[in-house]
Amino acid sequence: MAPRLNVTQMVRQAARLAEVRPELVAAYRVALRRWSGDPVLRLLGLPIVTEGYRSGAVQDALYARGRSAPGPVVTYKRGGESKHNVLPSRALDVAFLLADGTVVWSGLLLSKFARLMKAADARVRWGGDWPGFKDRPHFEV
Ligand SMILES: [Zn+2]
Repeated sequence: MAPRLNVTQMVRQAARLAEVRPELVAAYRVALRRWSGDPVLRLLGLPIVTEGYRSGAVQDALYARGRSAPGPVVTYKRGGESKHNVLPSRALDVAFLLADGTVVWSGLLLSKFARLMKAADARVRWGGDWPGFKDRPHFEV
């Protein structure tokens, strides 16, 4: 069975996308439609947006991880430096909802979705293509 969003999740997705630049939202919607229309891909997981806009304070808290706070390094951008920190956001992060309700950040699924995102709009850049630190959930314009 293909995973589906419940009403709460649908509302949350819409709220996140409302804070993202229209051209990136359009690319996401096209990629999502192609993913959901593929009989194999749709069974692997449903793409979801985990974050669009992110305040400077939240960005600083993320930057602290792996530095002054515990955990691995998750970003090299301080508050104000990320494309997530402008409104509307120039970036969004993607994960996958599985049929059992869990959320995964599979590199394989993200690379498959990245192909659809880049095909939808050539302006979209994928964090998985960056040299050095790979930010596979990340897409930006
Ligand atoms: Zn990101």
